[in-house]
Amino acid sequence: MSHQNIYRSGPDKFHDECGVVGFFSPDKETNCAPYLYYGLYALQHRGQESAGISTMKDGKISMHKNTGLVADVFSGGQLKELEGNVGIGHVRYSTSGEGGRTNAQPLTVNTRAGAITLAHNGSLVNDQVLREILEDSGVVFQTTIDTEVMVNFIARNLSQGLVPAIRKLVEIIKGAYALVMAFDGKLIGVRDPFGLRPLCLGKMGAQYILASESCAIDTIGGEFVRDLEPGEIIIIDEEGLTSYGQKNWAKKKSCIFEEIYFARPDTVLEGRSVYASRHEAGKILAKEYPVAADIVIGVPDSGIPAAIGYAEASGIPYGMGLIKNKYSGRTFIQPTQELREQAVKLKLNPIREVIEGKRVIVIDDSIVRGNTSKRLVEILREGGAREVHFLVSSPPVTHTCHFGIDTPSKKYLIGANYTVEEITEMLGADSVGYLSVEGLLSSTKADGDRCLACFTGDYPMEVPKLEEMVSEEEERLKLGN
Ligand code: 5GP
Ligand code: MG
Repeated sequence: MSHQNIYRSGPDKFHDECGVVGFFSPDKETNCAPYLYYGLYALQHRGQESAGISTMKDGKISMHKNTGLVADVFSGGQLKELEGNVGIGHVRYSTSGEGGRTNAQPLTVNTRAGAITLAHNGSLVNDQVLREILEDSGVVFQTTIDTEVMVNFIARNLSQGLVPAIRKLVEIIKGAYALVMAFDGKLIGVRDPFGLRPLCLGKMGAQYILASESCAIDTIGGEFVRDLEPGEIIIIDEEGLTSYGQKNWAKKKSCIFEEIYFARPDTVLEGRSVYASRHEAGKILAKEYPVAADIVIGVPDSGIPAAIGYAEASGIPYGMGLIKNKYSGRTFIQPTQELREQAVKLKLNPIREVIEGKRVIVIDDSIVRGNTSKRLVEILREGGAREVHFLVSSPPVTHTCHFGIDTPSKKYLIGANYTVEEITEMLGADSVGYLSVEGLLSSTKADGDRCLACFTGDYPMEVPKLEEMVSEEEERLKLGN
C-alpha cells in the first residue's frame, strides 16, 4: 500500500478540543479519582461531549467514560469504583457527534509489558498514514480518534522501555498533542515539540498534578509549578519527577487561540494570566479602532475582559448588555447551520435597559463563521440599540486550524472570503473592527513564540491539503452531521 500524501488528515478532524488531567500520589492508599473529577470539572469548558477517568492500582486499570458532562457521567457512584493512587482524566468536545461513547477517552490497552491508559488533547496531521501503516501490520482499530494511533505506537515499543517508546512516538507523530498517561504505576505527561496545546504541572504536598490549564490545579487544591516545555516528557513515580527535555529540536509555537478564546480567564498560560491578555487586547483595540459610542458591552464569557479593557482605555462606560444562559451548551455544539443560528438565541439575551437608544460597541473574542456575530447584531437591534459597532479582540480568522481548534475549512471562514466592509454589511452592523496581529501579540506579551496560523497561514509544520479538508467538511454538512 502506498501512502501518497503523508499529511493526509483523518475523518475525525476539527473536533479535538479537549481537556486532560493527571494525578499521582506516592501513597498507594490514596484514591486519585475524586481529584481527577475535580480537575475535569474545572476543565469542562474545554469539552462537553464526553468525559472519562481511568485509574491504576497495582498495575490494574479501572476506567469509566461516557458521553455527557462530567457531573452527569459520574453521577451514579462510579468514582467509588475507580481505585488507585495514579490516574488520568479527559473531557472531549465534538461538533459531529460521531463516535460518541466509542471515541470517548481515556483509551486503555493491555500490552505484554502491562496495561497502559492514555488521554490526549490536540490533533495530529499524520494520523491517517500512521493508521494505515498499523493496519497494514494487522492492527484493528476500534475508534476513529488519533489517540488510538498513539496508544498503539507506544504499545508496540514498550518492551524497549517506557522512555524509548515515548521518544519513538514523539519522533513519528506530527501535530499538536498534550498527553497524559498512566503505566506501571507511573504518571506520564508529554507536550508536543511546538507546545501547541497547553499542559502544566502542579503539586499538592507530595502529590503531583498534570492539567491542560492551571485553573484545574487551583480547583484540586494544588499549587501551580510550571508549564511543561515544548517536547518535554515528564515521568512521575515514587522517586519523584524525572524530566526528559527535547531542547535541541523543540521550538515553542503555543496556540494563541488559547488566550483568545479557549482557556479560562483564571488560567495562567506561558507565565501570563489569560484575563490580563484579554483585558490588554481590549485596551489595544480601543487605540487601534476608536469609535464614538455611549456604551461598551462584551459577549459573555470570552468577550468580557476585552470589553472592560476597551471601556477603560476609551473612557466609554462599560455595561452588562447581554445575559448568557449558563445552562445552554456552547453554540458550536449545534451541528447544523440552522441549529447553530437558533442556539445563539437560546444562549444570549440583551438587557434592553442597558442598550436602548444607545450607540453600542459590542466586543467578541473572535469571528469564525460569522453566525454568532450576525445573530448578535440582530438581537442588539431588536433590544433597542441605535447603533451597533461589532469589534473583535482578535484578527480575522483566515486559515483552517489543523491543531485542535475548531475552525473549519477556509470556505466557511467569513474572514477568509470577505473584506471588512463586506462583513460589516453581512452582519448588518454599523461598523466592524478587528484587532491587528501585532496588537494581539503584544496583548499576550509574547514575541515570536506563538502559533498564529489561523490568522496568517504560517503553519509551524506541513499540514494536510486544503481541498481534501473542504470535501470532508462538505461531506459532513451533506450528511447533516
Ligand atoms: P462564529 O459564529 O463566528 O462561527 O462563532 C464565533 C463564536 O464562537 C465566538 O463568540 C467565539 O467565542 C466562539 N468560538 C471561537 N472559536 C471557537 C472554537 O474553536 N470552539 C468553540 N466551541 N467556539 C469558538
Ligand atoms: Mg463567544
